[in-house]
Amino acid sequence: MTKTADIVIIGGGITGCSLAYNLALHGATNVTLLEKSGIGSGGTSRSCAILRTHYSIEYNLLHAAASLNFFKNFEEILGVDAGFHQTGYLILGPEQHKEQMETVFSLQQANGIDTSTLTPEEALSIHPMLNLSDIPVIGYDSMSGYCDPMLATNGYAKRASELGVTISSETEVATITNNNGLYTIHTNNESIETPSVAVIAGPWSNLLLRDLGIELPYVVTKHKVLNIDFHQQYDPSWPIVKDLTTPTKLYFRPTPESQMIIGTGDHGEDTNNLDNTFKDNVDENHIDNIKSHLGRLMPKLSISDNIRSWTGPYDIPPDWNPMVGNVEGHEGLYVAVGFSGHGFKLAPSIGENLALTMLDQTPSLTIQPYSPQRFTTNELLAGAYGIGSIS
Ligand SMILES: Cc1cc2nc3c(=O)[nH]c(=O)nc-3n(C[C@H](O)[C@H](O)[C@H](O)COP(=O)(O)OP(=O)(O)OC[C@H]3O[C@@H](n4cnc5c(N)ncnc54)[C@H](O)[C@@H]3O)c2cc1C
Repeated sequence: MTKTADIVIIGGGITGCSLAYNLALHGATNVTLLEKSGIGSGGTSRSCAILRTHYSIEYNLLHAAASLNFFKNFEEILGVDAGFHQTGYLILGPEQHKEQMETVFSLQQANGIDTSTLTPEEALSIHPMLNLSDIPVIGYDSMSGYCDPMLATNGYAKRASELGVTISSETEVATITNNNGLYTIHTNNESIETPSVAVIAGPWSNLLLRDLGIELPYVVTKHKVLNIDFHQQYDPSWPIVKDLTTPTKLYFRPTPESQMIIGTGDHGEDTNNLDNTFKDNVDENHIDNIKSHLGRLMPKLSISDNIRSWTGPYDIPPDWNPMVGNVEGHEGLYVAVGFSGHGFKLAPSIGENLALTMLDQTPSLTIQPYSPQRFTTNELLAGAYGIGSIS
């Protein structure tokens, strides 16, 4: 059976669901979202969902700030609680990043983010467990926080559905074909013809795009997250911490249940098997490294043996920044992929501005710098801290 749709979105993660909501909000009708499993079950389900605005690339900062504002008001706008907690964000940096960090603090301030540099004493009044004696630069923004990734994604999907989008979960796209500008999306139980398709399938995107002769430049790596209990209370009001002085660019945040979630902002483990990134096996070596970092940074806290872990995929282009927009030479074909471990916090603004672009309306914030073509025109997005998710 062949159906028709004005727009088809492939992928029901946070980005695809944000796009679905925004398309409907801005007047699109007959939109279908196809998700091979459950809504939010891909990379989004593995996210720590930290919402910070500390980016040295101005476009990232602007999209992150607009998105943070949306997440703060999520319940008011969408009628669903996304589990937003405003904890603030402490960033610890080495001497060589001092100047770049101070530039970012000024840029954050200019964009309405309450940011300042702190003395170790001031930082200790916000997070009393930290040993900051040898940290050359400490920055703080009071507005950052985190969400519950599944609540947020399902909140977007629910509202999109109320606005008329057809959300089909458990519907896997097998192939996409293009006949004279009309795409046919072949799923496990039907075919849909559409002039406009958005492939937002995270690390799986190239598997779909190859039917159209397209391969976007990204690699997939496996990232590890630990969820740690302490013998003392880990206060849920303590800020998120990003430690740029560590080689793996360690980050951690509290949970509402007084635990800590801790991950790394490095390249991660290479793998050519995407399923492996969801296998959740974290080696003892990694756990020992994290424990010894924490021991140095928070010597007064005693880590319990109760440590849970999970893993998930990063889809990483050469410059660690997303590829969003039309694929040149393929009218009606759009992508949003390559979020490199920092896509959750950008999803509200990326979804809104990709939707406006697809509908030929004026974006509130440009997505042009994220053009997938930038790798052929050599317009890479260079961050001040080198390659990594904090760019
Ligand atoms: C361990 C970890 C921690 C992270 N922490 C943070 C963080 O703190 N802050 C932050 O901002 N970002 C973070 N990220 C990154 C962030 O989670 C991702 O960038 C974001 O969730 C990507 O969302 P997405 O919708 O683009 O992709 P995904 O969530 O991967 O969604 C793609 C969807 O496409 C579906 N799909 C694939 N193939 C098909 C097909 N053939 N047919 C139909 N559907 C298909 C998949 O099932 C999936 O649901 C983290 C990522 C990981 C792995």
